[in-house]
Amino acid sequence: MKNWKNTLEFAKEIDNKDPLKHYKDKFFMPSFHKEKVTYFTGNSLGLQPKSTKSFIDQELNDWAKWGVEGHFHAERPWMPYHEFLTEKAAKIVGGKNNEVVVTHSLTTNLHLLMVSFYRPSKKRYKILCEKKAFPSDQYALQSQAKFHGFDPKEAIVEVGPREGEYLIREEDVFNKINELGDSLAMIMIGGVNYFTGQVFPMKEITKAGHSVGATVGFDLAHGAGNIPVSLHEWNVDFAAWCGYKYLNSGPGGSSGYFIHEKHVTNKDLIRFAGWWGHDKNDRFLMPDQFNPIESAEAWQLSNAPVLSQAAHLASLEIFDQVGMEALREKSIQLTGYQEFIINDINERNPHIKLEIITPKDPNKRGCQLSIVAHGQGKAMFEKISNKGVVADWREPNVIRIAPVPLYNSFEDAYNFGKIIEACINE
Ligand SMILES: *Cc1c(COP(=O)(O)O)cnc(C)c1O
Repeated sequence: MKNWKNTLEFAKEIDNKDPLKHYKDKFFMPSFHKEKVTYFTGNSLGLQPKSTKSFIDQELNDWAKWGVEGHFHAERPWMPYHEFLTEKAAKIVGGKNNEVVVTHSLTTNLHLLMVSFYRPSKKRYKILCEKKAFPSDQYALQSQAKFHGFDPKEAIVEVGPREGEYLIREEDVFNKINELGDSLAMIMIGGVNYFTGQVFPMKEITKAGHSVGATVGFDLAHGAGNIPVSLHEWNVDFAAWCGYKYLNSGPGGSSGYFIHEKHVTNKDLIRFAGWWGHDKNDRFLMPDQFNPIESAEAWQLSNAPVLSQAAHLASLEIFDQVGMEALREKSIQLTGYQEFIINDINERNPHIKLEIITPKDPNKRGCQLSIVAHGQGKAMFEKISNKGVVADWREPNVIRIAPVPLYNSFEDAYNFGKIIEACINE
């Protein structure tokens, strides 16, 4: 939009026209601060839907009433509880119902998936990931390499930004894939980089990885519920994400994973198994031989964590109502407006520079903007925090903000600008 204005009236005007404006009322906006909170950390912990409590209460009540019989007689029986989440979660990541499950947590799922999809040999053992991946992913990859007897320093190849740049050039990813060729066993990249907010071309990376014979997986911790993805169509082998970031399922909540249909019927695929992955028809005959379900469910270890899945279901129902398409449409506008405001502040204050390191192209980013506040330092971040902005500081000088389309408004974006400008000139 060319005729954007950095004024409260204008922000309110677009809020009024926003078809998703009522969704804000479905969430608790934190109230811990003396000032009105501008919550821009949905990329770290999504807000609590007001409906969550009733979903959890339902299970507590059924547990009180039924005890163990709740597995069959609860309003939503616990035995197949995860199934209530599958279709809604699958829609968010573009998977089929037999490709997606919500259970365990992200890092656990990454390990379980890599047991199946990182099957190195003497010749083909390298893992390609992005530099500055989230630490948990780095530790997971390092320990997987060691588990198979490889030196992580040798097995793990990182592709990073060029000297003096923040973003990773896509051509450098593709060149690295081709260079590694038949030594490359697996690509495991964050679909959206947590630090810069850069979105990687997942479809093309998958194709390139497959063309050299590697498996391809993505960590969508910052992707699920933020950007549209089509994991099935893109032929991605596997993916996992967090439930508690954009998906608002509560701290440490259940998380989802995806395994492409072409793999789920392969009963010989190596995996770490548990009883909840066993054929549902005779699970309770307690057979001593594992017979995997022919779906992504075969990777489930344990019975459903119902209380955390109840919280997840509350949020998934909201996603189901609004749909990723409408969310993305608003997200592009909202983040674009926030970017416009930051650029406007730069123009009117030539003595400062707030540099947005996130890609400018909306197709190459989600809602997050990572801002380098040149010459400002952490003191400025503390000042904005004191004025009610909940954002995120990353050493040495990056402020990450995530205007989340589900519950942030254009007025929030305006307020953020107003507060940051006041703090700069204090
Ligand atoms: C948030 C995040 C995690 C956290 O992992 P948990 O297992 O949920 O604690 C891991 N990887 C990435 C990329 C993340 O953004």
